[in-house]
Amino acid sequence: MNPPNPPGRPLTLALSKGRIFDDTLPLLAAAGIEVLDDPERSRKLILATSRADLRVVLVRASDVPTYVQYGGADLGVAGKDVLLEHGEQGLYQPLDLGIARCRMSVAVREDFDYAAAVRQGSRIRVATKYTRIASEHFADKGVHVDLIKLYGSMELAPLTGLADAIVDLVSTGKTLVANHLVEVERIMDISSRLIVNQAALKLQREPIRALIDAFARAAAA
Ligand code: ATP
Ligand code: MG
Repeated sequence: MNPPNPPGRPLTLALSKGRIFDDTLPLLAAAGIEVLDDPERSRKLILATSRADLRVVLVRASDVPTYVQYGGADLGVAGKDVLLEHGEQGLYQPLDLGIARCRMSVAVREDFDYAAAVRQGSRIRVATKYTRIASEHFADKGVHVDLIKLYGSMELAPLTGLADAIVDLVSTGKTLVANHLVEVERIMDISSRLIVNQAALKLQREPIRALIDAFARAAAA
């Protein structure tokens, strides 16, 4: 049994299962905080920690900003990609944690002439989960873009003729190579940020500040 959370409201930290949870654990550990359940083994969505005044909630990666914005969680860890797509208003972003690093890139089929396709005033069909980032990127280049929203397996889109290009996260590039795609443009570097609900920061300034400082020390180490 986990120790119960104390009376009053414990601080709630929203994380997503997988790399964000896995990469945040060592930062919490460096701050002397242990998460008392393993999300890969338990079905619990609310996880107690070794600190009675802090709990972790597990949500979809793209739902982390929503939880923090509306106060369902006081803090969260989210990728810059997710923050840009969600919109950053109402979220205080005190720290780049430097975890879950990757980049947002444009990729096309090996045999596709990207340079010709993006000449000023031209039109290109792009499939992506990141429509906001993609639309801004091509607008900046003066390229008209027809965006096709996908939720996964983006690599398939150029191979099937669904799109000319994709905008997707790349880390090693192995998935692109395996699918005969090439990275033709790097849009931005991505890492995960600590985000904080602004009202919570005002109401619980001391404990939240202490936690931000602990994360800052752990991320710098
Ligand atoms: P879901 O799987 O729920 O649809 P997701 O794919 O965004 O959401 P994750 O795969 O856990 O969730 O990714 C979480 C975050 O990790 C992303 O928002 C991004 O910032 C980062 N990330 C995604 N893919 C990679 C990668 N290949 N390498 C490093 N970091 C990545
Ligand atoms: Mg994923």
